[in-house]
Amino acid sequence: MITEWNIQSRGHGCAACGRSFADKEAYHTVLLDARSEFARSDLCADCWRTRFADVRSRPDFISCWQGVYTAPPPPEEAIKKETAETLLRKLVELNDPKYIPAGFILAAMLERKRLLKVKEQLVRDGRRVFVYEQPSTGDVFTIIDPGLKLDEWEQVHQEVTHLLEHGIPQPAASQPENHTSEPASDAAPSAEAAAVTDGDIGAVASVQ
Ligand SMILES: [Zn+2]
Repeated sequence: MITEWNIQSRGHGCAACGRSFADKEAYHTVLLDARSEFARSDLCADCWRTRFADVRSRPDFISCWQGVYTAPPPPEEAIKKETAETLLRKLVELNDPKYIPAGFILAAMLERKRLLKVKEQLVRDGRRVFVYEQPSTGDVFTIIDPGLKLDEWEQVHQEVTHLLEHGIPQPAASQPENHTSEPASDAAPSAEAAAVTDGDIGAVASVQ
């Protein structure tokens, strides 16, 4: 049973023999069903051929594909600005079910811009699950389809727009003194967020 959505980074070496991948080296990725998640292994061509030749016939086989390893960029090129991708990474790393709808929409936006590619689409426990790959880093995102109803899209669009502009709210560690006992609701759309229109987000809704 899929209990969490996650990001699985591309390995820098072969999971079977431990050898480091060289820049531009072709490798194979295999996803196996490990009950609560899809276990990813990246393999060198030799190990793929000699030890995983029959992997497609295994009962826990989910998917496999080939890629070309590229050495990671120097750290100074790290992303500074909050983008749909950096926000999605943060949401997935939080692994908070309340952000599943926002993560689903962000992944769909990134797919439209060809910044994520669908590698596999399957149903687990009655829910659609998408396995996306970020082509340039090789990272794999497991994204759960929250099964949004039509009237829920607008609220999630507003949430995504707000998150892109303002970032993820920090946990309320220090409450302002003038705060009432009313719990803060992050579901309530603000007028400010509602006023923002984003063509990409709207277009995602229209294809669903
Ligand atoms: Zn190997």
